[in-house]
Amino acid sequence: MNLEKLESVLSQEPKFRLKQARQAIFIDLINNWNQATNFPLALREKLNQECGLEIGAENLISREGDATKALISLRDGLKIETVLLEHGAWRNTVCLSSQVGCPFGCLFCATGKMGFQRNLTDAEIVEQAIYFARVLKREDKQINNVVFMGMGEPLLNYENVMDAIKILNDKNGLNIGARHISISTIGVVSGIKKLASQPLQINLAISLHAPSNDLREKIIPANKKYSLDAIVEELNNYLQQTGRRIMIEYLMIDKFNDDKEQAEELALLLRRIDPPLYFVNLIAYNLTGEFKSSSAKTIKDFKLALNKQGIEVTERYRFGQDIKAACG
Ligand code: SAH
Ligand code: SF4
Repeated sequence: MNLEKLESVLSQEPKFRLKQARQAIFIDLINNWNQATNFPLALREKLNQECGLEIGAENLISREGDATKALISLRDGLKIETVLLEHGAWRNTVCLSSQVGCPFGCLFCATGKMGFQRNLTDAEIVEQAIYFARVLKREDKQINNVVFMGMGEPLLNYENVMDAIKILNDKNGLNIGARHISISTIGVVSGIKKLASQPLQINLAISLHAPSNDLREKIIPANKKYSLDAIVEELNNYLQQTGRRIMIEYLMIDKFNDDKEQAEELALLLRRIDPPLYFVNLIAYNLTGEFKSSSAKTIKDFKLALNKQGIEVTERYRFGQDIKAACG
């Protein structure tokens, strides 16, 4: 898809054409300008040549049919992953990538192992959502939630991610409510600060994954720069400014961060979050080589240990593991 020249191609046309074109792209979700039947034929041809709408992608569907991973080809030949998770008929979540690869190299993360290629443009981020919005529209469905939990660190690509979110949120765009859009970060403190003062009510999730700096550094090299202390301090500013509840993501890795003492250590750390507007989301680790996932029993015990300390805990449902679509 290539919308860069849309405004210039339409600049010689009457003003309403741009509005009609946006309606065709974001609401009618056309994939070829020939479907814009309210446009003169010559204009449709010109638009097809200069502002193509096709999205090159390969689909992988999980055995249960609840997750679809699309491998989207960008114009420079690089590929990114986008995942659609269907929880029942009316909750469709799209997991978007923000970068090609990721510079942080977390040891448990498949993206981290790829190294970093480049940031995605706002158009490339929106294109991922449009891809699945088209798929869903065929079944009279739509995207209800967007999470930035695909490839890359969204807060290292702040401007483009926020520009994309504005389009996703726009009533004349995909019209996805800000409260249904979430950014997940490894803890980029400067980005959390910026998020706190921007006006849209989007959600924030923090990939914490360990209760102490010593342990966290072993799997997250970026902890040297973004320590737990720096993150907690910035979260407190964020919470005081926004009053919006955050999600603490915690990957359950076998015999690494999953015993009862560690749950208690985590509870102590979380007690420093003030105001205490958070809940913990336990994530079953998807195999990427190095580690093993905690057993269901260990996850349950960990959850109970946190509950005992008065902490609300949810568990991330495993989607599409067979297509490696369950994030990371
Ligand atoms: N860079 C951001 C967002 C992308 S990762 C971040 O790290 O938060 C999105 C989520 O998937 C993060 O919580 C990340 O820790 C998690 N993840 C990474 N690798 C995973 C794996 N192998 N199994 C399960 N979750 C994983
Ligand atoms: Fe990057 Fe997030 Fe993966 Fe770490 S977990 S390497 S920050 S995408």
